[in-house]
Amino acid sequence: MGHTLKEPLNMQAKLQLTVIFSALAFFTSACSATPAADPTSPPIDTGATAISMASTMAAETMAAIPTETTIPTPTEVPFYLTANIWAEEPRVPIINYHQFAPNTSLRSTDHKIRKRDFLDGLEALNQAGFTLIHLEDWINGDLYVPEGRRPLVFTMDDLFYNNQIRMDENGEPRRDTGLSFAWRYGQEHPEFGFKWSLFANLGDKWYADGDTEGKWKDELAQSLIWCLEHDARVYNHTYQHIRMDKSGAEGILWDLEQNDLFMRELLVKAGREDLIEGLNNMLAIPFGYWPEGSGYSAMTNYITPEGEPMLAVFDIDWIINGVKFMAPPYSPEFDPMRIPRIAMPPEAIAYLVEHQTEFPTMVSCQVGPLDAEQVNDQDYLGEAIQASITSGTCPQGFYILENYSFDMR
Ligand SMILES: [Zn+2]
Repeated sequence: MGHTLKEPLNMQAKLQLTVIFSALAFFTSACSATPAADPTSPPIDTGATAISMASTMAAETMAAIPTETTIPTPTEVPFYLTANIWAEEPRVPIINYHQFAPNTSLRSTDHKIRKRDFLDGLEALNQAGFTLIHLEDWINGDLYVPEGRRPLVFTMDDLFYNNQIRMDENGEPRRDTGLSFAWRYGQEHPEFGFKWSLFANLGDKWYADGDTEGKWKDELAQSLIWCLEHDARVYNHTYQHIRMDKSGAEGILWDLEQNDLFMRELLVKAGREDLIEGLNNMLAIPFGYWPEGSGYSAMTNYITPEGEPMLAVFDIDWIINGVKFMAPPYSPEFDPMRIPRIAMPPEAIAYLVEHQTEFPTMVSCQVGPLDAEQVNDQDYLGEAIQASITSGTCPQGFYILENYSFDMR
């Protein structure tokens, strides 16, 4: 695979080392911050009770424990680790946006949302406790969200249009573009954040001012680079926004590959081939028209120029056809080759806000007391979690503890 996450997991939130100093009340400042670790996040193995993730955290955590000779050694200090837990099965809504319209437009439509309506939606979702997560991370088994928050995914289709994202002369997103509204909102509201999955058709339109000399490609490359560097990851929506149900296996393969090749060409031309290794392979089906037979096989078997297999394929539907959500990868209901998305209009967001309590939040629990010298041992941690569940201090569920995941349902 060779793919790694583009940012560290939020380890400081995930790993709050709680040291109980039973008699030594004056040692209170020891264990606040811990450094971020290798963010490698392997896929979930549903057959295993525990999944190994990077394991450098324990050692770094231990370094935060006082070491002067007057202090008890770590093994004598009873301490607990904070586990993050899905005690109920998480449900992740995936909202899908398209283009943006100015506030002077009469109203938002299915494909163009006004700035005002868009921002109202962000605020309502934030107030309802939702936090943006990366789609790719979730599929790869990183199921973390901050305690008390509900995971939410934002996607956008049909990129790149000028009203979606375009750079100004200073290399910043122009303030009349949809992603810039979202970017500024995420900066002001870090609890909500800014994380997007963008599904691009690079071959069905010109960009910027659409000059015949092709300068639009340079502008397009700059926007692409900004997105890749700012948590707006870019995936496939076919090169020409084709009807996949009518295209045949060869046509589908060509269109998927052409989109990937052109994206890489833009990056290479802009001197940013370093960004290519972070690209992955996910597809949103144009119009929601699914191919069948050999076309379906061509789609699901498509691999990128770097050899990445198809990670996930996304559908699109309206909320009036029933509310569908992404299950966690450990669930038997999880089908990476048919993940539902919800079309954007305000009623979809109104539904999520109104039904917010039906979307579980991540909870936490103190696991322990633990032997400090064994906390980098996955089996030991699994046993400690089981003991905490048996004693009734922690709930059953899907656990994230240290850099490990444990299916303790
Ligand atoms: Zn589309």
